[in-house]
Amino acid sequence: MPVRDEAAKLAGEIAELRHAIHREPEIGLDLPKTQRKVLDALDGLPLEISTGKALSSVTAVLRGGPAHSRAQAQAGPVVLLRGDMDALPVAEETGLPYASAVPGVMHACGHDLHTAMLAGAARLLSARQADLPGTVIFMFQPGEEGHGGARHMIREGMLDAAGRRPVAAYALHVSSSKLACGVFATRPGPMLAAADRITVTVHGRGGHASQPHRAADPIAVACEIVLALQTLVTRKFDVFDPVVITVGSFHAGTTDNVIPDEARFLATARSYSAASRAALADLVPRLVRDIASAYGLTADADYAAEYPVTVNHAGEAAFALATVEEVFGPGRGERAQHPITGSEDFSFVLEQVPGAFVFLGACPPGLDPETAPTNHSAVALFDDAALADGAALYAELALRRLAQG
Ligand SMILES: [Zn+2]
Ligand SMILES: [Zn+2]
Repeated sequence: MPVRDEAAKLAGEIAELRHAIHREPEIGLDLPKTQRKVLDALDGLPLEISTGKALSSVTAVLRGGPAHSRAQAQAGPVVLLRGDMDALPVAEETGLPYASAVPGVMHACGHDLHTAMLAGAARLLSARQADLPGTVIFMFQPGEEGHGGARHMIREGMLDAAGRRPVAAYALHVSSSKLACGVFATRPGPMLAAADRITVTVHGRGGHASQPHRAADPIAVACEIVLALQTLVTRKFDVFDPVVITVGSFHAGTTDNVIPDEARFLATARSYSAASRAALADLVPRLVRDIASAYGLTADADYAAEYPVTVNHAGEAAFALATVEEVFGPGRGERAQHPITGSEDFSFVLEQVPGAFVFLGACPPGLDPETAPTNHSAVALFDDAALADGAALYAELALRRLAQG
């Protein structure tokens, strides 16, 4: 029976796991309840399972080949499949029957689907263990949403869990909007942006707001810096290698008639190439300090590297799209025209292993993908209909890529 049909038979089971995870969402690197559910779902499968130390990750290794020759099969290639497991600090307002029972926490990015689909794939591939021409690593990862869970798992040796480095790595990510349900999208090269954090403190000298010349006003200077950052984006960066800087937090002062001592702001910087990212890290702090100094003030500017650019390997992205078309038929795979400005810590895996990050539309029927609430919204909806095909694609990517050697 084709993997896709077998996955369809598992759809109910996969949805059940997804709903259980959705009901009890957890944030960050420590997800003990989610980890427990994953371990229970994998129980009884022929997997070598290890769990994380610094985080509640699950790494499961499936060694293929007939039982008597599995030692030789260990010489075969290794493929890595990743599903992230963490939720967000969002108060769910979907009204779903399986909505979050944890106040202020929601699976608003669909990672509950990824976890359930990957567990489904582990079941599908375990049933084919004897025919599997190599080894599969299932990477169940906490802390994608800003906690760098993938980096922690790599530090703890996840990439070497099979004894050999993977030849390819794939991740799926559902989208509640933009893509029609069941459509897979990816592209060669940059798929998601690098995301870095800029922290600025402008040091002035407080005083009476009626006599600014006797003080050193940090607010006016910080405002000028905020605007200059936008000019920097257009004057110092190639329009075909785009950069986004957004100030998302700005704080200074207490009332209208007092000049404060300090103004602080936080910004995110997104970029798509190592060159632009390095230029940002160099130019932004310089611009901040020099503008402050032009007014006789000082400023601290910290440029903190967070997630790198998520770069798809051209061959692996093409392979993933070809697999989608072969398994699900033409029209189900889309070559994404542009990368997106979101970021992903799967980028740390793709820095070391060639692979592809693939989006999967999960917009429910009756909603227009163009206007449906986006991932991270308190009313984002992800349809269960995407689950079986997501699990099938994970499994098919592993099977077909291992067969290539
Ligand atoms: Zn997210
Ligand atoms: Zn996500």
